Amino acid sequence: RVQAIGITKRFGSDDAALNGVDVEVRSGELMALLGPSGSGKTTLLRVIAGLETPDSGRVMFGDEDATDIPVRKRRVGFVFQHYALFRHMTVFDNIAFGLRVRGRERPSRAEIAARVGELLRLVQLEEYGRRRPNQLSGGQRQRIALARALAVDPRVLLLDEPFGALDARVRKDLRRSLRDIHDATGRTTIFVTHDQDEALELADRVAILNNGILEQIGTPDEVHDHPASAFVMSFVGESS
Ligand code: ATP
Repeated sequence: RVQAIGITKRFGSDDAALNGVDVEVRSGELMALLGPSGSGKTTLLRVIAGLETPDSGRVMFGDEDATDIPVRKRRVGFVFQHYALFRHMTVFDNIAFGLRVRGRERPSRAEIAARVGELLRLVQLEEYGRRRPNQLSGGQRQRIALARALAVDPRVLLLDEPFGALDARVRKDLRRSLRDIHDATGRTTIFVTHDQDEALELADRVAILNNGILEQIGTPDEVHDHPASAFVMSFVGESS
């Protein structure tokens, strides 16, 4: 379970990017953070990741208060829209990277190969280990980024518009694979999107942000059929 409790974050003298936001993501849940541009989605994701320090509020991972734990020790996995893979490394080495730099329990070569093989199968790119990122399509690269994020066995997987830069058909394919991968791994996952259809189709629950405020959190059916505010009604109502 991941909780953001009373998160407020202000940049300079502007209005708060986040204003007292409470979100609880249950263990094994696929949660969408949905809202228009500038509503605070990315900021909330970065606070949960430990890339941004909130002005007030706490981040909990299970019973552990993670607010002051630095990003490298939080055991989170990320995929960003333009999160480039290491270009000079093969796909295999990209995925293995996190396993090799892992401090204490450094796995053997055979263990690394087995784990990378498993992850390549999971993202359905078994034959691609020897390729370099520039020999992959955009969709394939994002799948490899997902495999790399999962390699370190993160407590939570954080995805920021992971399909944002791709064309519509590839986006659809990737949505399905994300859902399949999620169902196969049961990993607690939070993904940011401004696309109502994507959120409603993919997520177990949706948290809707507007101007740094959480407007509603609920299942796709709840937010669609019982919008909690005029904003939610108009924003979710734009979906087809
Ligand atoms: P988008 O979909 O456009 O990425 P978003 O919902 O993810 O939008 P955020 O990126 O979280 O929104 O931004 C929320 C607000 O905080 C915006 O007004 C933005 O300009 C501001 N903001 C975010 N990061 C910074 C920063 N590093 N410095 C100053 N202002 C920032």
